Amino acid sequence: MLCTGLSEELFAMRLDSRSPLVVNTHELGRRPGSMLTLEFSVPAPADLKIELMGVPEGSPVPIDMRLEAVMEGVLATGSARTSLKGECARCLDPIEDSLEVTFQELYVYPESDAEPDEAGRLEGELIDLEPVLRDAVVLALPFQPVCEPDCQGLCLECGVRLSDSPGHAHEESVDPRWAALLAVKTDVSGPSAGDEQTRSAGHGASADEE
Ligand SMILES: [Zn+2]
Ligand SMILES: [Zn+2]
Repeated sequence: MLCTGLSEELFAMRLDSRSPLVVNTHELGRRPGSMLTLEFSVPAPADLKIELMGVPEGSPVPIDMRLEAVMEGVLATGSARTSLKGECARCLDPIEDSLEVTFQELYVYPESDAEPDEAGRLEGELIDLEPVLRDAVVLALPFQPVCEPDCQGLCLECGVRLSDSPGHAHEESVDPRWAALLAVKTDVSGPSAGDEQTRSAGHGASADEE
């Protein structure tokens, strides 16, 4: 490859070829139609997560991908498998799961006119898989993960996990947060509200039945 030394001089290298998610396309070359398949595993980068669910940093992420040289650059197509850890949105129990995502990204050659936000870009002969992997994983993570589809959540009164204690109930079944409201209601129907009740009685028969 005669162009290798030249391109490395022309473009300031931001990418570190030793970084696990940086892939060197040197072996692929630039002849359109050439293809290369790669299988490798990377440690999960940090912050691959949303609120309740994420990929533990450093956990192995096997990647299976194909690189194709096209006219304007390199098309990367592949899949990645991650392990997931998080907590149930209803009962807060820990959850372990796994996720398989697919991705495809066109990395244009460094000298291409394509807008950087329309496509990835090769730096020299290197492509950075991290943004594309991050997008694919984060978009696939569940916002409301549950430990089991019919998780009953927690008892509002005592916090016990309802799936663990079927038929769970309290003698005083009134939630303390409702008690204040019930007290107000009692006042309204009491003797002090009598006048108001009489005036509204003409709209229905309920007052006669009381
Ligand atoms: Zn749960
Ligand atoms: Zn309870």
